[in-house]
Amino acid sequence: MKVLKFGGSSIGSAANIKKVVAIVGNSDGARRILVFSAMQGITDKLIESGNRAAIGGRSYIQSIQSIREQHLQTIQTLFSDAVPDDLIRYVQSELSELESVCEGVYRVRELSGRTLDRILSFGELLSSNIIASLLSTNGLNVEWLDSRKIIKTDQNYGFAAIDFTETNKRIGESVNNSKAAILVLPGFIGCTADDSTTTLGRGGSDYTASIIAAAVGADSLEIWTDVDGMMTADPRLVRKARHIARITYREALELSHFGAKVIYPPTIQPVMAKGIPLWIRNTFASGNEGTLIEAESSTAEGIIRGITSIDNIAMLSLEGSGMVGIPGFSRRLFDALSRSQINVILITQSSSEHSICVAVDDKHSALAKQVVDREFENEIAVGKIDPLRTESGLSILALVGDNMKSHTGVSGRMFSTLGHNGINISAIAQGSSERNISAAIRSSDVRKAVNVLHEEFFSDGNKQINLFIAGVGNVGRKLLEQIRTQNEQISEALRLNLRIIGIANSKRRLISADGLELTTAVDNLNSSEALSIEPFIDKIVELNLRNTIFVDLTASPDVVETYPTLLRKSVSVIACNKIAASSNYGRYKFFKDLAREYNSNFLYETNVGAGLPVINTLNDLIRSGDRVNRIEAVLSGTLNFVFNNYDGSRNFAEVVRQAQDEGYTEPDPRLDLSGTDVARKILILAREAGYRLEMPDIENTGFLPESCLAGSVDDFYFELNRHEYHFRKMFDEARNSDKFLKYIASLKEGTASVGLEQIGPEHNFANLSGKDNAVLFYTNRYADQPLVIKGAGAGADVTAAGVFADIIRAAR
Ligand code: ADP
Ligand code: ASP
Ligand code: MG
Repeated sequence: MKVLKFGGSSIGSAANIKKVVAIVGNSDGARRILVFSAMQGITDKLIESGNRAAIGGRSYIQSIQSIREQHLQTIQTLFSDAVPDDLIRYVQSELSELESVCEGVYRVRELSGRTLDRILSFGELLSSNIIASLLSTNGLNVEWLDSRKIIKTDQNYGFAAIDFTETNKRIGESVNNSKAAILVLPGFIGCTADDSTTTLGRGGSDYTASIIAAAVGADSLEIWTDVDGMMTADPRLVRKARHIARITYREALELSHFGAKVIYPPTIQPVMAKGIPLWIRNTFASGNEGTLIEAESSTAEGIIRGITSIDNIAMLSLEGSGMVGIPGFSRRLFDALSRSQINVILITQSSSEHSICVAVDDKHSALAKQVVDREFENEIAVGKIDPLRTESGLSILALVGDNMKSHTGVSGRMFSTLGHNGINISAIAQGSSERNISAAIRSSDVRKAVNVLHEEFFSDGNKQINLFIAGVGNVGRKLLEQIRTQNEQISEALRLNLRIIGIANSKRRLISADGLELTTAVDNLNSSEALSIEPFIDKIVELNLRNTIFVDLTASPDVVETYPTLLRKSVSVIACNKIAASSNYGRYKFFKDLAREYNSNFLYETNVGAGLPVINTLNDLIRSGDRVNRIEAVLSGTLNFVFNNYDGSRNFAEVVRQAQDEGYTEPDPRLDLSGTDVARKILILAREAGYRLEMPDIENTGFLPESCLAGSVDDFYFELNRHEYHFRKMFDEARNSDKFLKYIASLKEGTASVGLEQIGPEHNFANLSGKDNAVLFYTNRYADQPLVIKGAGAGADVTAAGVFADIIRAAR
């Protein structure tokens, strides 16, 4: 014998019910017991009818009307030829009975648990009768049984406990007395000894089916629903949730207890006790294999079986020095809660015994506070214990898997993954069975948490990275292009999927939570919402996506002001913008400390030498115990270009203009020509090397005549032309002594300087061409021959590549 249960989602419409009939009709001839839930949405509408009547609103009539229509329409479609008279009569009489019960509630303005259960029972009574009648019409040998005559319970309305002795006896008798090949029963409902209707808790039809399966010693129990079986996470939260082929009863119990709604937790126990295999199958894909729940799972793949969450949790903390070493406090706490029927979902106690923390359903938190404070009234009065502290708006997140027992490091991975995503944990519990690790987190973080953990434990290591980019000029466009063309390779080689969620410039922003189409993003930005940077940042925080990286390609101080907000949310910041690293030391240190504190990254490799790995090399040297004694560097692509190309045949101003036209200079070329940009770079290198320097500490012997620095950029070019003689003289002096002009930055024993120097042909920098940069590190290890980094140090392409490298670094 087999027991099959069909959930509300399987019988939401006539079309779906036909699928169910096809599954039931397609049998091997074995006797079957079918259990049905109410049609989808009906239980909620029944609750609504009762509540509306109880507050004295006539609108309960509309709720019942909508229930009536849903059933009558379904019947019309199912029985297109002729609706059996007895079915129509039954349905009409049940609906008018429902109306009378609600009318009674309306009159007395009171909805007791007992009456609500009576109201709820109509859902399952109607659905099961309709389907039984349909199966009969199709020529099957069917008998409908009233679960209220069979499932006997106590009087705990809404959540009644089964009287198993009586129930098992009645199930045995009913099944034996019936000659029908197919028995149909309503799920969810039962009855007390004095014949009042009860219900078994939301989702309780699963339980009805399991009780029956265990009582008759069924060969199997099949729960038919709207998904392929148990999944590694709730498919509504995790798009890439995977189907679980086999799982143990205990794992399924943990998963369902911690929120996997696909099966009602009490369902597991009766079939587990009898060793009856439990299948979960998909009504809408009946050919798929489903999930088999059994005693020992034969496929032991992976450490973690699933990730679940339950919302609407409150944490209660009982604290106080009076608790230490004195037995009985926890007993009194749990007694007080249990006397008020408050179920405890999770417990933690610190080993100092200074505090006990329990998680309960949020709706019980006010009552819990009342009863616990009353229980400890005396201790609170003398200050031995603090009044109970309650925190709402939480959820419990759980990792479940039998194999966790034999593996170390699972909780480490779990919590570091959450930590890297800025998810704060209010409490942690691990059962001694080591089958479950649970953590209480803020409900607003649940989606992100479940997704990052799913990625960590299930997705072959493929990690989704969510990028936001501020500033889409030359470098931004190049970056988008590089990401577009290299994404596939990165996904294969590094297991990273980069998605650009938002882009913004100084005036507009464009955001798509599912990722922007990169070929059109920049064009679409120009016709998008006009907004400043703050709302863009607010949106990043609000979306709260996992593995978020913010890229600052602007030169704006306003954008830098938003870094702390982002870093505190564990969003990594990649700055091409040099302001953060080169403003005052305290600020620079603050950003770095924030990144460390919140497990995020603050990276700015392109601040020095564009795409050249200058800062990272320096960091690696220091991290590996080397000491940097001296740095000498050519750090301005612009100045190198200018002095390489200025040979007296053209005006100095013309050469500068060419550098600007070719995109090497800062937007204001004076930042380059004055040496300020180079000074910022050596300042950053000095700080990275461990020196606490400020901008005024950098000695800067400029070569521009004073007047060139005043006024506008046009004035600047005018002044350059006016001073051509000055530049020509510098050039000739160098050439006359067989030297070249190079703008060199240096750091020696903590003292930094920048300035124009004459160097000979033997110098390391003599052969630097074009817009090249070069950095020489003299360290303890590289004492005589410096470590040299050399290559193009300016240009949108290489800068974008440097930013890209920082993104990958932060992503991993
Ligand atoms: P039914 O009406 O058949 O009783 P439910 O809505 O009670 O169906 O349960 C099925 C739903 O459970 C699925 O649609 C799915 O969204 C949800 N669910 C939550 N967690 C899981 C999980 N881990 N595996 C499968 N489904 C899950
Ligand atoms: N109809 C009830 C509910 O919605 C029972 C069930 O579907 O299992 O909770
Ligand atoms: Mg269900």
